[in-house]
Amino acid sequence: MTHYVFLYISDIIMLHMPTLTKENTETKHREDLKKVCHMAYKNGLVSGFDGNFSLKLDNGNILITPKGSHKGLIDEEDFVVVDLDGNILPVGKDMPWHVPSSDLLIHLAAYKKRPDINSFVHAHPPKVISLTVCGIDFNEPVLPDSIVQLGEVAFIPFPGPDRDEELKLTVSALEKHDVIILDRHGAVAVGKDIYDAFYKAELLEHTAEILFNAHTIGNIKTLEPKLIEELIKYRHRTFGRDVEAREGSQLFQNLKQAFKIKNLFKKLFENSSPVFQRILNLVKELLQTAIQNTKYSEQLSLEEKEQLSRELTASILSMLLGRFTKKS
Ligand SMILES: [Zn+2]
Repeated sequence: MTHYVFLYISDIIMLHMPTLTKENTETKHREDLKKVCHMAYKNGLVSGFDGNFSLKLDNGNILITPKGSHKGLIDEEDFVVVDLDGNILPVGKDMPWHVPSSDLLIHLAAYKKRPDINSFVHAHPPKVISLTVCGIDFNEPVLPDSIVQLGEVAFIPFPGPDRDEELKLTVSALEKHDVIILDRHGAVAVGKDIYDAFYKAELLEHTAEILFNAHTIGNIKTLEPKLIEELIKYRHRTFGRDVEAREGSQLFQNLKQAFKIKNLFKKLFENSSPVFQRILNLVKELLQTAIQNTKYSEQLSLEEKEQLSRELTASILSMLLGRFTKKS
């Protein structure tokens, strides 16, 4: 079964999008950027004027979408060329003049931080954003393909209206990650060419859709930590030493911590330790009393109160055990 999964993933990588060659001229880059903008709009990764896309030209300058541009209608000559310091470079005689995207600074900071990348995609994928609104962890280990192709996805909590803070956090996350989710806002993906970055953004949205469906149906079966380790190793074998060196092997740490706690709980319950049962009952009683004494409890039925106290007991114990496992 494991081999079958890996073979399936290899097939996807072999059938990867077209790769740019050295002969690519600015004209070809403009065509590719236009194609990606149109696909992003058509596939619902951006709505009209949302998002911004850029790629690195062969001479090191950046080709970026203009400010206030509709991605479904954009044309080759609409893109703006800037140098890495953000200076707008003159365009050809018959070319219209445009102002670069207002997110230009974040694109430039990303290219400076990661000299290995040649493209930057910022989209507002609706299903990804929905997951952030509901507080669902994107890194829930459900799909092997997403683990291999995207690695661990970074998450940046909503920093308020301060775009500088978001820029700082995004660039810092790029140190280790190629894909970043911006809470209640959108996503960023970088890659070796514009198709690579776009494909990652597309897979992110596709994974979010599956997660959304899985959460709607319920009873999610996550992959076991051992298989996750194998998938991470496979990712590093496939994408090379540079990726491994950048990410390190300590991916999905929060997740592993959660598994540790889950296993500890399992062991404690299996042993039916009388001490643990007494602690559990004590915490439960305390919480029940606390719930009874709140105004909120007036709105709850007996069953709901019982359910709430069970959930609170589990959260408190997992917090305690979390501290315990961190020390060990
Ligand atoms: Zn945005």
